[in-house]
Amino acid sequence: MEQQATIYVAGHRGMVGSAIVRNLQAKGYENIITRTSSELDLRNQAAVAHFFATEKPAYVFLAAAKVGGILANNTYRAEFLYDNLMIESNIIHSAYQNKVTKLLFLGSSCIYPKMAPQPLREESLLTGLLEPTNEPYAIAKIAGIKLCEAYRSQYGANFISAMPTNLYGPNDNYDLQGSHVLPALIRKFHDAKINNLPTVEVWGTGSPRREFLHADDLADACVFLMNNYNEELFVNIGTGEDVTIRELAELVQEVVGYEGELRWNTDKPDGTPRKLMDVSRLHALGWKHTTDLRQGLEVTYQDFLANEELYV
Ligand code: GDP
Repeated sequence: MEQQATIYVAGHRGMVGSAIVRNLQAKGYENIITRTSSELDLRNQAAVAHFFATEKPAYVFLAAAKVGGILANNTYRAEFLYDNLMIESNIIHSAYQNKVTKLLFLGSSCIYPKMAPQPLREESLLTGLLEPTNEPYAIAKIAGIKLCEAYRSQYGANFISAMPTNLYGPNDNYDLQGSHVLPALIRKFHDAKINNLPTVEVWGTGSPRREFLHADDLADACVFLMNNYNEELFVNIGTGEDVTIRELAELVQEVVGYEGELRWNTDKPDGTPRKLMDVSRLHALGWKHTTDLRQGLEVTYQDFLANEELYV
């Protein structure tokens, strides 16, 4: 991307989109275009078509999506499928019609079959059944990958896709009903510390393994791919390292400085035993994450403290 190029970041208020905007700004890109959802409803085909025809962005980061934890995914199955299909169809088609130089579409590790071998390789896509609770979201994200592939093969459009692992960082969701484990633990340990509670409830057995990537690392990888990758095959983005939920809980406890006890509630589900990305393709391209989990947790807890009123 040329420094003066017009770059549209769709979803700039979310955790991923806001991290991409910060990364682009830090690298000196000046022409970043954003729209809030009230200014531009990405589900509205005519509005998106008009936006692209008027603004003519050269590069597009497609980080807008309807997202949420397991409960939200399973409850709002229609919206997770419809909203995400509309957002990506409208943007990808308009990008093609307006001759966007390059587009990067962001998916998710939940596109992989529930029983796919670990670590998850890109080749496992569409080799088996999906996890039922987030099937609508996964189907929409798979459709997004296939749209990019189809516009590339039929029309030569330079549209690429990236699949991030579990993310955390600024603008994450700290609502305990809808959040993922890492922000939930920051919130729970923080609240317990402030209120001098003797124990904190943690879900499951603590034995499942998960991989976590800081959103700023993800954003850096996205900008790297935009500048260096032009192939049809999508690319996993992660650290290639995982921890048990117990290890994660102990690390968060230490970073927050909570001195009480953990209480494991095994009535709550463990979920998938392991979810780890194979990142050999990304590493072979020459990109690797720089924030380790402990360091990432420390900056994330500081951000939580600084913005607590926005998060809770
Ligand atoms: P998943 O990666 O799709 O399974 O979703 P989560 O991030 O919600 O959960 C990951 C693991 O963390 C599961 O084994 C949960 O049982 C466990 N876990 C432990 N405590 C919590 C918590 O307070 N909130 C959430 N969301 N998960 C927790």
